[in-house]
Amino acid sequence: MALHRWLHPTHVFDRVHDVQPDWLAAHGLRALLLDADNTLVPRHAYHLDDETRAWIELLLSHQLRLAILSNSASPRQVAKMVADYDIPTLALARKPARSGFRRALQRLDVTPAETAMVGDQLFTDILGGNRMGLRTILVPPCSTNDFIVYRLFGRTLERPLLRRRLSEPRG
Ligand SMILES: [Mg+2]
Repeated sequence: MALHRWLHPTHVFDRVHDVQPDWLAAHGLRALLLDADNTLVPRHAYHLDDETRAWIELLLSHQLRLAILSNSASPRQVAKMVADYDIPTLALARKPARSGFRRALQRLDVTPAETAMVGDQLFTDILGGNRMGLRTILVPPCSTNDFIVYRLFGRTLERPLLRRRLSEPRG
């Protein structure tokens, strides 16, 4: 497969909080692997805001299985971030390598087909998730500086790909 196809998210959301239980159920998804830096929290600021906490609690109340899959070098901070919840964390995950994804799926006892990777980066979250056969959900980065880069490059990269995708049968 050409590289651009591996970098193509299955879905793009304007906000991570817009990924809602009814949408997940409609897509046959029971589990989410969540990136931490710039997806749930600004980079290196491992503190969930109230809106993100409410979103996580909503997903958990719908029996969705969640894991944090992060390339962060601060496993303890990542674990502390979600310490109030029954959410396994895998830091130092080395995305897009497949090993971290495999461990996360094992921890949640789910298959790739019923799982989506949610993240802000094409070359780690989306590439890795696609290689594992997961659904992939791209969201804008939390940090403003990175958001500008995303607007300039991420979206302009994706739009032609999305158009092409729509005109091609999936296969
Ligand atoms: Mg990230």
